[in-house]
Amino acid sequence: MKTIGLLGGMSWESTDLYYQQLNKSVQQKLGKLHSAKIVLISVDFAEIEILQRQGLWDDAALYLKEKAIQLEKAGAEGILLCTNTMHKVASAIESSVSVPFIHIADATAKEVLNQNIGKVGLLGTQFTMEQGFYKHRLEEQGINVLVPNQAHRQMVHNIIYDELCLGVIKEESRQKYIHIVEQLILEGAEGIILGCTEICMLIGDTQFSVPLFDTTSIHVQAAVDFALS
Ligand code: GLU
Repeated sequence: MKTIGLLGGMSWESTDLYYQQLNKSVQQKLGKLHSAKIVLISVDFAEIEILQRQGLWDDAALYLKEKAIQLEKAGAEGILLCTNTMHKVASAIESSVSVPFIHIADATAKEVLNQNIGKVGLLGTQFTMEQGFYKHRLEEQGINVLVPNQAHRQMVHNIIYDELCLGVIKEESRQKYIHIVEQLILEGAEGIILGCTEICMLIGDTQFSVPLFDTTSIHVQAAVDFALS
């Protein structure tokens, strides 16, 4: 089994899910006392959030590159960046290490295409929904991407930073997300990408008329497949 390197803490609420799901999945596949081999570097998300808000993406890239190098030195044989948003600087991270970088949008696109879905609704931070780095990556693989309207994007974003990253789950916010997802379905979405690693905490168990693509668990599965291959 290969050792998985997690670059986490963005936020730690979802890194916690990665840690649990990786171990549960390896245990399920190998049985008995088996668990995942993991090295984890967990950052202070407050520092990252300031860089995001100020648009200092080069500084964020430099910071995360160093962490990825540390992960490789610590024995990681493949690296997961446990956030969709920070994949904005994925290429800088990927090029700084010699081990494989498992890209969350690629793993998700593969899953979407496996289910023969051509048009998805994308929920995530405003960075993920509005900037090209994530949408284009999906579009390059033949997937059409719909995002919520401006007011809804703001709502989705605020709930991520003000509640989900703090571990706060509110029924009122769940209802808002349900309304936004239903709107995307009306506009033609055949599936919904939960393109933020905390969104599964809010609506991961909610039933809709189209499938949900939970990027946290999809990323975890890609890592387990890699580790056990
Ligand atoms: N974990 C989130 C994501 O998947 C949001 C926090 C962040 O900005 O990194 O995008």
